[in-house]
Order: sequence, then structure tokens, then C-alpha cells
Amino acid sequence: MFKSLGMKLKALFGAKTYDEGFFEELEDTLIESDLGPRLSMEISDMVRQEAKSGKLKTHADFLRFVSDILKEKVAPWVYQPASSPQVFLVLGVNGVGKTTTIAKLAYHFHLQGKKVLLAAADTFRAAAADQLELHAERIGVRIVRQADGSDPGAVVYDAITSAQARHEDIILVDTAGRMHNKENLLRELQKIDKIIANKNISADSYKKFLVLDATTGQNALSQAELFHQAVKLDAVILTKYDSAAKGGTVIRIGEKLGLPIAYVGTGEKYTDLESFNAEKFLSDLVS
Ligand code: GDP
Repeated sequence: MFKSLGMKLKALFGAKTYDEGFFEELEDTLIESDLGPRLSMEISDMVRQEAKSGKLKTHADFLRFVSDILKEKVAPWVYQPASSPQVFLVLGVNGVGKTTTIAKLAYHFHLQGKKVLLAAADTFRAAAADQLELHAERIGVRIVRQADGSDPGAVVYDAITSAQARHEDIILVDTAGRMHNKENLLRELQKIDKIIANKNISADSYKKFLVLDATTGQNALSQAELFHQAVKLDAVILTKYDSAAKGGTVIRIGEKLGLPIAYVGTGEKYTDLESFNAEKFLSDLVS
């Protein structure tokens, strides 16, 4: 997984004393791991101060210090049961693993004995609802869908009405990841957001997740900024963690947008979803 930063830090520590070259290389190493120039400089400066005061004598001191700085920047989002139905709006551009993640979440909550409903509100991409329906059948959960091209807001409205009537626990709403243009997409998502808010779903029961592909760096950060601006997000779900070489993006998203990380996708199977654990993530990142 994210061994590369840890291995690079180890090599760096082994080869150098704390001279200017060390700090330059440290900064480059952090930038290469997608932490971005500003944060990389900040971390490098903090290491410089700490090293000056003689506190970073061993490799382990150095790694712990970097890891502690990073820990401050990223928080987990923890699932809390709330009044039913809980509505989870799942957002993200096409290809990030949104459908797979919804299926994994459906599987996860279904196994916990919750009544899960899928709402196929990506009516723009042909076959999106078919794909979701296939998962619903396999997992054994219900789905609300309408014809391709119909109003996504109407799908969400129907899903909530129907879940309320049947006392279902969790609605996972799939949304479009692409439309004619970005403005259309964001406007559509804002409409859905308003419909949910008008359906008397309390803030505790309504959460918005952005699905991001961990293998993309700066791109993921820009997507997060865009979606967060349009419909204030609650948390991020990271996919393809199993094939990501860098982990820095997560920390930048946590730091820049103040968004916690909820789940991490570690493969293509329904069981390949973990709750985000900052300790484990950071020990993977810097060990
Ligand atoms: P969507 O367009 O965002 O709905 O993306 P899909 O759910 O269709 O996923 C796109 C591709 O990414 C598929 O081949 C998935 O199997 C794959 N995928 C999704 N999540 C993960 C993950 O956590 N790890 C890996 N390795 N592949 C994933």
C-alpha cells in the first residue's frame, strides 16, 4: 500500500544528517507523495525546528514526529445511527468507483440487519440504474428506479416516500457523475440536496459523501473542492486504496477542506470496504 513515503523517509534519514540537503530532500519527498508544496514546506520547517532542539535523534523519533503532524490533519468519520430513514447521498465523478462503493455500503449495512434501499438517481448515464439493480438483486436489497433520462429529483423523492412508508433504515442515493457540463451537474446535485432537506430528514440522518479515487492526486483535491462548494459534504470515501502508491491526497483533503474520511475501498469485492482508521493509515504511510 502506501509504503513509498515511509521507505523514502527511511532512506533519507539513513543517508543524511540534518543539513540543508536533508530538508530539501524531505520537502521533495513529501511533494512527491501528493502532500502539496505548502504543507510539505510546513512539515519540513517543523522537522527543522524539532531537529535543531535535538529531539529527533533516531529514525523512529523522526518518523513519529512526521506521523504526529499528519495525524492532526486527518480525522475519521464514524457512522452514527439516527432516525430512519437515514439518507446517504453518494457523489463523485464517473469512474471513481461510486457504484461499487454503494454496493459495498449496501452489503455492509444489510449484513448488520438494516433495511437498505438503493435510489438510482443517476438517470443521465444509460445503464447506471441497471448496474445498480444487479447489485441490489445480488445483495438482496430493494431499489427505486425510473426510466433513463427521468428527473433524478423525482427518483429521490419517491425513494424517501417509499422508505418512510416501509420503515426502511438507510437509503443510499446514487447520483450522476457527469452531465452535459459541470454547471448542469452541480445544479442537479443542489436540486437533489434541496429535495432531501424538504423531505423532513434531519441533519443527523442526512449525510453527503464524496467518493474519490485514491490513485489520483491533485485531481481528487479539485473534485473535493468543487463538490464541497456545491453541496457541503460531510465526509470522503476513498476507493482503490489497494492500488494507490501515494497517500498524501487524503491528508491534503483533510487539511484543506476539513473533511473527515469515512471509508476506504481496498478491492473490487463487496467485502473490500473498511472504516477509515487514521492510526493504521499513518502507520502504513510512514512505516
Ligand atoms: P463509477 O463510474 O464511479 O460508478 O465506478 P465503478 O463503481 O463502476 O468502478 C470503476 C472501476 O473501479 C470498476 O472496475 C471497479 O471494480 C473498480 N473499483 C472500485 N472500487 C475499487 C477499489 O476499492 N479497489 C479497486 N482495485 N478497484 C475498485
